[in-house]
Amino acid sequence: MAKPLVYRIALIAHDAKKADIESLCKDFLGFLETCKLCATGTTGSRIMRATGLKIERLLSGPMGGDLQIGARLASGRIDAVIFLRDPMTAQPHEPDINALVRACDVHNVPCATNLASAQVMLQTLSWLAIFGD
Ligand code: PGA
Repeated sequence: MAKPLVYRIALIAHDAKKADIESLCKDFLGFLETCKLCATGTTGSRIMRATGLKIERLLSGPMGGDLQIGARLASGRIDAVIFLRDPMTAQPHEPDINALVRACDVHNVPCATNLASAQVMLQTLSWLAIFGD
């Protein structure tokens, strides 16, 4: 992954994972403040309220927010995706979720779908931001 000047990161969490994404963003606040962030609607409001981060909020996931992020990603405007999915609950917008994860695979964009992989991703990107690639 070539190092961009500013990492453009998309943040999404299903309802059962919203507390996890809040604490993840608190843990990596210093790095995330240097990034250009976007998020699906409710995830974005929750993180902004919990951390004070500036985030561009797109539509809520079930209303098309995942698809908006997928479209940006397909046109080269997202460098990494954190998508904390809830594997225990069926989602009404399952096709949109699959489309976003597929777009990450098609365009070779890193996508963390659970908390442990999101921690590794942010740790690595924050090191890359400091030490280069
Ligand atoms: P939300 O959407 O951030 O608006 O809750 C997330 C999702 O369900 O994809």
